[in-house]
Amino acid sequence: MGDKSISICHRLVEIKRDGQHREVRIFSDAGRILRPLLVVGNLKKIKVLKGGDYSFQSLLENGIIELIGPEEEEDCYTAWGIKYLLMEKEGKQPMEYTHCELDMSFLLGLSCGIIPFANHDHARRVLYQSEKHSQQAIGFSTTNPNIRVDTNTHQLYYPQKPLFQTMLSDCLGKPGYPRGHSAKLPKPEFFNGQCAIVAVNVHLGYNQEDSLVMNRASLERGMFRSEHIRSYKSEVDNKEALGKKPKFEDTVNFGKTQSKIGRVDSLDDDGFPFIGANLQSGDIVIGKYAESGADHSVKLKHTERGMVQKVVLSANDEGKNFAVVSLRQVRSPCLGDKFSSMHGQKGVLGFLESQENFPFTVQGIVPDIVINPHAFPSRQTPGQLLEAALGKGIALGSTQKYATPFSTLSVDAITDQLHRAGFSRWGNERVYNGRTGEMIRSLIFMGPTFYQRLHHMAEDKVKFRNTGPVHPLTRQPVADRKRFGGIKFGEMERDCLIAHGAAANLHERLFTLSDSSQMHICRKCKNMANVIQRPVPGGRKIRGPYCRFCESVEDIIRVNVPYGAKLLCQELFSMGISLKFETEERETPQTPS
Ligand SMILES: [Zn+2]
Repeated sequence: MGDKSISICHRLVEIKRDGQHREVRIFSDAGRILRPLLVVGNLKKIKVLKGGDYSFQSLLENGIIELIGPEEEEDCYTAWGIKYLLMEKEGKQPMEYTHCELDMSFLLGLSCGIIPFANHDHARRVLYQSEKHSQQAIGFSTTNPNIRVDTNTHQLYYPQKPLFQTMLSDCLGKPGYPRGHSAKLPKPEFFNGQCAIVAVNVHLGYNQEDSLVMNRASLERGMFRSEHIRSYKSEVDNKEALGKKPKFEDTVNFGKTQSKIGRVDSLDDDGFPFIGANLQSGDIVIGKYAESGADHSVKLKHTERGMVQKVVLSANDEGKNFAVVSLRQVRSPCLGDKFSSMHGQKGVLGFLESQENFPFTVQGIVPDIVINPHAFPSRQTPGQLLEAALGKGIALGSTQKYATPFSTLSVDAITDQLHRAGFSRWGNERVYNGRTGEMIRSLIFMGPTFYQRLHHMAEDKVKFRNTGPVHPLTRQPVADRKRFGGIKFGEMERDCLIAHGAAANLHERLFTLSDSSQMHICRKCKNMANVIQRPVPGGRKIRGPYCRFCESVEDIIRVNVPYGAKLLCQELFSMGISLKFETEERETPQTPS
């Protein structure tokens, strides 16, 4: 605390005086989060700053701005904005401030400070965007995608900068480049998405419950198209690095061999696919086999496919040679893909409509996205409407581009701007029916809104099976989508069927289609009877159910049970607990199956 500009400490060192514990704590460890605040006591110095240098660095050196750590911050009286310092003079606020925010929006974090009109939205919606959707949005995250081998990434083909700006988005970027060279490195953008023309309308009912209707022509022009890259890695021992070859060891090498586990049509002799090869599920991506002939190839699972983007061969320090094959997939939005605005309004694509069927404005503008008006009243996100209205103004050439939280334009300023440009004040548009050409009686709100494509895609989630692999222990269907697994039919779903009285359906779901099995019960002692092989007089051996308690084969019946129940019975038996089964004859004859 205090005037660090004249102190002997480095300005990144944090000093906390804790009166309660009679301690002074000094923090100088790397990676601490510090944030800049104005020092109220030194604000007067700003007038006499020599050379009129008002750069951040100069303000920092002169002690006008100070970097505050989380512990120090507890003892600061921080004004939210300059105007709160002046209010103090008028006697409205008796508070004596020690520090002041540089901008009112700087009390928000990075991903929140770039939300336009965040202060007009419900807090929960702002959190949805800043914590969830901003992380899931597909953008252009790296500048070196061509030399990277990521296990799983998405890249947006045509990322855009939003029309609006915020104070925080202006401040982001790397300082310290000498003047004149700054133009070479563009400022990093922290926005992942595109500016779409969004209409708020009920479009034939295809945007119910947060789903949205998109313009097929826009998608065909490349809107929200993205590239999905997935890499497969495999390694072999490097014989030279290991020195000598260990005896009796089956050396494994990359190479093409006739594999029994999958197709090798796209592989070259070295065991790797050629660049541009179109691999489908079931194909071998990396061919690898042992000298003994054992097949160690890497195969594509049933949901995986793509074009070979690159093949990388390298070695690591642990004496392994490894190969990475990257597969590329181009994905245009399809039904079920998820999108979100910057105001926590997420939705899935419900219908792809042809451009000619959308309502169009006098200028011939057709929406890219149509969202349902019901998304607004309960969610309380007027920020999105303000964004669209301001975006419309900016698109018409307005100079007011800022949508910084807490210091946004007034609604009047935004509406006046639209009015001056000859538009309806409230952003509504007179539209014509695309099918009939007739004027639509009601006006429709339309405007450019920044939309994000989220990485939850229908293609990665679609799941289906009739019969397939089962878990070896429980004999119930496996859950894994890549291995043709099933979908869990849980307790709540079970409760639904019980409530409906759909007993036969429930039986089918939980028994016939799951782990249907049979076991034998001795009706005399009510214990479980096992199928064993035993000798019979005459020297022969026969196999069949046998009660070890009664030592007889008399009166043993077969019952249908789920394998899970049988397993439980056997596990309890192994712990010395025997279950007894009451059985009775089924009255109705069983239908032959
Ligand atoms: Zn028995």
